[in-house]
Order: sequence, then C-alpha cells, then structure tokens
Amino acid sequence: HQKLKPPHVVIVPTPGLGHLIPLVELAQRLVVHHKFTVTFFIPNDGSQLSPQKKVLQALPQAISHAFLPPVNFDDLPLDVMVETKIALTLTRSLSALRDSVKVLAESTRLVALVVDLFGGEAFDVANEFDALPYIFFPSNAMGLWFLLELPKLDEATTCRYRDLPEPVQLPGCVPLYGSDFLDPVQDRTNEVYKAVINHMSKRYKTAAGIMVNSYAELEPGAFKAFKEQQQGLGLPPVFPVGPVIKTGSKDVLDGHDCLSWLDGQPEGSVLFVSFGSGGTLSSEQMNELALGLEISGVRFLWVTRSPNETSTNATYFGVQGSNDPLSFLPQGFLERTKEVGLVVPSWAPQVQILSHRSTGGFLTHCGWNSTLESIVHGVPLIAWPLYAEQKMNAVLLSEDIKVAWRVKLNERGIVGSRDIGKHAKDLIEGDEGKLLKKKMIELKEAAKVALSQDGSSTKSLAEVAEIWKGHKN
Ligand code: UDP
Repeated sequence: HQKLKPPHVVIVPTPGLGHLIPLVELAQRLVVHHKFTVTFFIPNDGSQLSPQKKVLQALPQAISHAFLPPVNFDDLPLDVMVETKIALTLTRSLSALRDSVKVLAESTRLVALVVDLFGGEAFDVANEFDALPYIFFPSNAMGLWFLLELPKLDEATTCRYRDLPEPVQLPGCVPLYGSDFLDPVQDRTNEVYKAVINHMSKRYKTAAGIMVNSYAELEPGAFKAFKEQQQGLGLPPVFPVGPVIKTGSKDVLDGHDCLSWLDGQPEGSVLFVSFGSGGTLSSEQMNELALGLEISGVRFLWVTRSPNETSTNATYFGVQGSNDPLSFLPQGFLERTKEVGLVVPSWAPQVQILSHRSTGGFLTHCGWNSTLESIVHGVPLIAWPLYAEQKMNAVLLSEDIKVAWRVKLNERGIVGSRDIGKHAKDLIEGDEGKLLKKKMIELKEAAKVALSQDGSSTKSLAEVAEIWKGHKN
C-alpha cells in the first residue's frame, strides 16, 4: 500500500534564514509542480525561532514542519566560529532527527532526504531508512566546485591559502585568490577547517545528487565542467534548479513604512543598503558608511544594526543587541539626510524593496539569496562581502558576471567614506552604472527563461523529481 501514497520528502535545514528561505520555496515547487508531500525537521538551538516560524507559516497543507528539541551550546567557547555552531546544531540533533524520520518512514513513502550545505551528517539517517540523500546547495556552482576541490588543494598546499602567490583555477570558473576563499578555511589549524573537509567536501561525494541554487545560463562554464568531469571525478549528478528565491508578499505588513517611503521616490533613484540576516559592522565602519552615503547625495534606504567590534556576523544566531541601532549613527546624520534617506532598524522586506520601481541599486554583503533576489529583479550591485563564502560570491559578481563593483578595504581594514560615496553615485547616476544595470537585466531575462515551462532549471528539477518518484516504486 506504500506505493499508492504520494512520495514524501524530508527536508532538514541548518540554522540561518538564508538556508531555510530557499528550502521553503523548493518545497513549494515540489508540492505544486510534482505532487510530493514534504516534512521539515528543523534542528535549532532555541534562538531565531520566531523569524523562522514566520517563514514557515501559511504553507500549504502538503508541507508540515516540526522543530527538533533545541541543542545546548553552553560548553562552547565564546569565540567559536559561526560555521562550527551551524554544523554542531545538526550533529547534536541527529538522534532526535533519526527518531522523527523513523516515525515518518513507517507511515509515508519516504523517497528522499534533502539537506543544505552543512547537512551531510544526516546522510546516515537517510540511508538507514532508504531515502535518497540529496543536497540542496544554497550557494552557486563556483562555491560547490570550491568545496569539492578543497581536499586536492589541501594536499597540494603547504602555506596559508591567503599567501598563495597565484590564484586558483576551479573548473570553468574565474581565477580565485586564496584571500577570497571562504572564512572557515583561512585558518588551516582551526577545527572547523578539518570539519569542512571531512563533513562537507568528502561527504558531498556520497550524496545521491546535488541541487544548486543557480542556473546554467548564469554560470555556464562551471556547470559545463560538472557535466564533463562528473563521472571521471566520481561526483554525484549536479542539478542547477535556481533561482529559488523568496517570493515577496509574506512579510509585507512588517515593512509598510519603508515601502510607502519608496513609493514617493523617483524611479531607479534609491540605493538599498543591507548586509543580510547576520551581517554587522564595527562602529568606525558604520560611521564611514553613513558619511559615504551622505556625501554621495544619492537617495538611500539603509537597514542598520547595532555595531559589533569583533564579529561581522553578530546577529546570525539572533543575538541582537538591545540598543537602538539608530543611536549609533553619526551625530545629526538622520536630520541632515532626512530629505533623501531612510534608515530602518534591523530588518526590512527585502524582496519587496528589490522589486520596487524606485530601487536603482543594492549595496549588499553578497549573501547568495540576496544576490539571486537582485538578479531576478534586475538590480545592479555594490559588493561588500563580510563573512562565509561572500568574498567568493563577490569575485563571481564583479569579475565574472560583471554586475557589481567590489569595495576595497584600506590599510586599516575599513571601506572609506569617499569610496562608498563614489560607488553609490556612479551606480545610481553614472553611465557605468547603466552598463551594470543593462547586464543585470539580461541576467534577469535569462533567469525568467530558466524557470519557464521548458527552461533549464525547470527541467533539472523535473529530472530530480522523476528520480525520486522512481525510488521504492
Ligand atoms: N532578508 C530580509 N530582510 C532583511 C535581511 C534579510 O528579507 O532585512 C532576507 C533576504 O531577502 C534573503 C535572506 O534574508 O532572502 C538573507 O539571505 P542571504 O543569503 O542574502 O544572506 P545571509 O543572511 O544568509 O547572510
């Protein structure tokens, strides 16, 4: 009788709204276009639950979710890397996950278990219940190549990656300097480095398939290289299924004020400034950014957080300072810029902002969801990467796809106000900004085609769906 039931998929997101948001959209596509039913099992540490619940609310009946019992981090040192915490959240939830999947496997036709980039540890659970272990890689093909090639790089390199004199050439990708590699591999003596190699790079090869939140036309070289080299390298099949992004409307009530402010601005005139769900700046850097926006004279909408002097991702696990972020702005800034700028504390409805006709550019931390949301809405970028794989994304955007200008750090590690001001003005008002915009519009159109009925990404996801439906049948 199991065969008569609709095929069921378990999805296990690791912490971070940037992981949950695209997985929720993926689930909707699986339900609507391919008639699956889906259950989310959500490992967590008890923090950030309310924004997650918001993302999960109002999902169709075919998608259920349950939060696993919160894990405890009291034993971890204060300066533990965010990537370690993300990975441990899953590791410490494995036995609860196993119990939950067991119950589900008894009552449904469980065909696949999907994890995101930190989820390889859950493959054992998938295998135990004969569900196909799949990865939904929420970043791009270049990032995936990086992780898959890392064990080789590790063997071939004796120095710190940032000291490598020449850039590394990943298959089908632009050259990449070691200083732009992801954060957790920069210190090769740190535990997290070994964890990346053992629990990501090596584990990925044991997946039954890897979906990537990108599309063939965005990274033609990298995806072609997967096609050509997959078998020889013993890699699982790779499926470009993106862009899978949040489709607005849900959080519109929260951001009502800034959307009506945007309504009153001229078309394409506003620079949106935001650093994702976790990004934070030091107070010196926050000052420079404020001054830069002010001297540029362009209109801006800035989502600001309280500064943090030691970390660039202080709000990732939801440890929000209790102080009012606006109180950290330079004296008189709000008054002086009130005709042209709006500062919003902590959170704004980003997708609605990017789709608004007044938005002309985005100063972004280059989180991959933010990047895809900008592409889908044709908004050109100033790239200001902070942590995780964001520097690699900035390289892809500024040197390969050429839809962004990347900011430069001065000798004190700060982006100066003058640079910020110039980029802002050039992007919104200059001719070169128009060229970036033109290129973005081309990518936007290509994304639309990729997601259309016969498009490359639609076909890729259908291929995955067919494989899953054939499992246990
Ligand atoms: N986001 C938002 N409002 C904010 C900040 C972030 O809606 O004020 C959303 C954004 O639209 C994106 C996600 O949160 O969907 C952030 O994901 P991304 O990969 O860009 O960055 P991360 O937060 O993972 O660094």
